[in-house]
Amino acid sequence: MLGATLVILILIAAAWYVAKVGTVFTLVFIGAVAFMTYKRLPFIVFTLVFTVLLAAYTFVPPAYGVWKGFLWLMLAALWLLQIRPLRKALISRPFLKAYMRLLPSMSQTEKEALDAGTVWWDGELFTGKPKFEKLLASKAPQLTAEEQAFIDGPCEELCRMYDDWDITHKRADMPPKVWDYLKSKGFFAMIIPKKYGGLEFSAYAHSCVLVKLASRGGLLAATTAVPNSLGPAELLNHYGTEEQKNHYLPRLARGEEVPCFALTGPRAGSDAAALPDTGIVCKGMWQGREIVGLKLNFNKRYITLAPIATVVGLAFRMFDPDKLLGDKADLGITCALIPRGTPGLSIGRRHFPLNVPFQNGPLSGKDVFVPLDTIIGGPKMAGQGWRMLVEQLSVGRCISLPSNTTGGAKLGVFASGAYARIRRQFNMPVGKFEGVEAVLARMVGYTYTMDAARSVTAGAIDGGEKPSVPSAMLKYHVTEMGRQVASDAMDVHGGKGIQLGPRNYLGRNYQVVPVAITVEGANILTRSLIIFGQGAIRCHPFVLKEMNAARTKNVDEFDSALFGHIGFSISNAVRSFVMALTHARFTRVPDVGDTKRYYQHIVRFSASFAFAVDVAMLTLGGYLKKKENLSARLGDVLSSMYLASMVLKHHENQGRPAEDLPIVEWACRNQMYRAQEQLHDFLRNFPNRFLGGVLRLLIFPGGRSYFAPSDRLGRQLADAVLNDTDVRDRLCKFVYRTLEPGNPLGLLQEALVMAQTAEPIEKRIRVEGVKTGKITALDVPGQIAQARELGIISDTEAASLRDYDRKVMELLTVDDFETFEMAAQGQEPIAGKGDEYSVHSGQVA
Ligand SMILES: Cc1cc2nc3c(=O)[nH]c(=O)nc-3n(C[C@H](O)[C@H](O)[C@H](O)COP(=O)(O)OP(=O)(O)OC[C@H]3O[C@@H](n4cnc5c(N)ncnc54)[C@H](O)[C@@H]3O)c2cc1C
Repeated sequence: MLGATLVILILIAAAWYVAKVGTVFTLVFIGAVAFMTYKRLPFIVFTLVFTVLLAAYTFVPPAYGVWKGFLWLMLAALWLLQIRPLRKALISRPFLKAYMRLLPSMSQTEKEALDAGTVWWDGELFTGKPKFEKLLASKAPQLTAEEQAFIDGPCEELCRMYDDWDITHKRADMPPKVWDYLKSKGFFAMIIPKKYGGLEFSAYAHSCVLVKLASRGGLLAATTAVPNSLGPAELLNHYGTEEQKNHYLPRLARGEEVPCFALTGPRAGSDAAALPDTGIVCKGMWQGREIVGLKLNFNKRYITLAPIATVVGLAFRMFDPDKLLGDKADLGITCALIPRGTPGLSIGRRHFPLNVPFQNGPLSGKDVFVPLDTIIGGPKMAGQGWRMLVEQLSVGRCISLPSNTTGGAKLGVFASGAYARIRRQFNMPVGKFEGVEAVLARMVGYTYTMDAARSVTAGAIDGGEKPSVPSAMLKYHVTEMGRQVASDAMDVHGGKGIQLGPRNYLGRNYQVVPVAITVEGANILTRSLIIFGQGAIRCHPFVLKEMNAARTKNVDEFDSALFGHIGFSISNAVRSFVMALTHARFTRVPDVGDTKRYYQHIVRFSASFAFAVDVAMLTLGGYLKKKENLSARLGDVLSSMYLASMVLKHHENQGRPAEDLPIVEWACRNQMYRAQEQLHDFLRNFPNRFLGGVLRLLIFPGGRSYFAPSDRLGRQLADAVLNDTDVRDRLCKFVYRTLEPGNPLGLLQEALVMAQTAEPIEKRIRVEGVKTGKITALDVPGQIAQARELGIISDTEAASLRDYDRKVMELLTVDDFETFEMAAQGQEPIAGKGDEYSVHSGQVA
């Protein structure tokens, strides 16, 4: 409202001015200046053109006036700013002093986190003028013949062997044959180079394998993801000594060693760098002789694969109090590899992660003495542990959790589409009711977005990127969308999703979601602190340059960055305002056909975002780090632009299938709407209300103009998965759907295909038999029999309906148990020695 009123006032003032001064030339002048700012002409070119324009404008009647006087003053200022020594003395140097006071303090670990990884498409989104040509030019990720064969062969076989209920409920572990298969076929060696016996898969192939395994079971995917993610193999690959690589990598590739990586402890969770675990450099006995080594004391928990690990990757803080290695006493966070049998290491007990009992447990060490060459990379890498971890996190975090969660979402949408088609209530497939349709549409839109984000980003990694900010965006947004899709799938299935047992293909998937939300940077922290906190400094075209110049007190560099930054902000303000007024219709983007408008919207948001970020950083400085809700909202805007870009690129990678357009449109609209809402909320909550109002005027001069996807569009998405379509096939690619006993997804698919022919026959029975009163049976088999007798359907139709109905009943059935089957086996008496526990009443007798 305020924005609209201000715009009207400005337009009236402009109209008054033009009417009074009476010149079209005024508009031409303003337009030309705005155009130069919009196009970001170099400062000197801008100043020269401004001089020529103003000289010409001065002679247009009336020749003088306050307005033109002001413009001449401005021109004088522009020329003065061209004299660099002068502007450095008058502006840059004093500003540098103030900036140094404003600069937020930063720990060494924060600096290392900021330096980790590369800046990719995230950097473009910070420019206010992203060059989509760059994104579109990048190669579409593809599987090699060998990778495809692995997915069609060993992956398929592993899924066939895997029995989720048996594993999660009865055994609380995978049977030895599944473990052996995983190890012997190289599932734990996807990232290990071939020369060490690994599979050396691309990031994309690695991700696709996890997607497929996750569609079969969360436990299977989690177990496979960990050795291929942040852990000993990855760290050895990049930082290990030749000796360490030659020793460990072939053994890890063959599955002779099972790794885990232990960072988290009872006192150090999200703030992992504050770990209290120590490694003291000292002399001790090792294999019968005295050496200089490390005495380790640690207490870790939540460590995946720890209970069965044969080698522990350990993070600890290293100290050298007696200066045996040099003159530094506190060497910092260090990573070492500790073999399982090392005296003092306590390992083997398990945690119980939400009924999805993958191997996860605590481990601790008391005065564990190891040689210095257990440090990954050898003694020279002492103190480099945090850098190693954050560097590798920038890659691993893009793959493991996003892929596992996408696999879970694909399973959810694949099953829900089919189930909502075969499950009838009120004489209709439940998927045809508007309420269910809306939920299915969200599932489809989210799953497409998740799939796009994980595959395009994996493609970027294969192209040489280590995208650290996108890895945080994927971690947060893909797992949050996955949480929503898992809940939606449960809702669509009603009671069928809730009753656990071998027939339930959703329950464990639903239970495992919080694991993905919590690990590798718990989600609240990732949203509030990491995405924007890291992005603002890493991706901004000028901030890191300014900070580095300030830290080294380099006035020259600071001056260049500062004036570049000022021009950048002014340009973004103009671009934001112009694109908001024109709804970005004239914004130049690549010629991409039907999706062009979404590219334009992203460019508009990029300019608005960049402008808002600059004003926030300038006015709030280091305080912005504490205002987590503001940072989180800016992170959301950045993420929405990123996710929408991934959707568009994914659509291109797939060859722009026209039938996918409704999903692409839904996904982009959803992201643009979210970007708008988050940016608007950011401005409404801006601490300085006046400044917030001015920003709203420039960014949303006509108010908010994006809407959430329409119901009509949603219906198209739901239809795509309620039928056996190519769209459904593409969306659910890699879902394990083989038709075989023990895989309800195969049967669901078969029933879905049959539903398409069964429904018209069922309708005939209803219309010609039930509604006319000729058919009196209430149950389906009885109705089929009567319809056949009455000649409403043929023999063949009756047979196919019976077959279809049998399959539907098989799918609708849920499991039931005797109480003893549900109780955990081998349990100790619950209330302590001597007490008896009644499984019937739940009471201690
Ligand atoms: C199943 C499972 C497997 C795991 N596997 C491993 C493993 O293999 N190796 C390993 O080292 N670790 C592992 N972890 C540990 C995991 O990384 C941690 O659980 C995670 O870092 C969060 O720590 P925490 O659980 O102690 O939560 P806390 O740090 O106690 O956080 C509690 C809540 O506060 C929020 N929060 C904290 N600080 C902030 C902040 N500044 N701003 C906003 N919000 C904040 C968090 O987001 C979270 O929601 C695993 C955990 C689980 C559950």
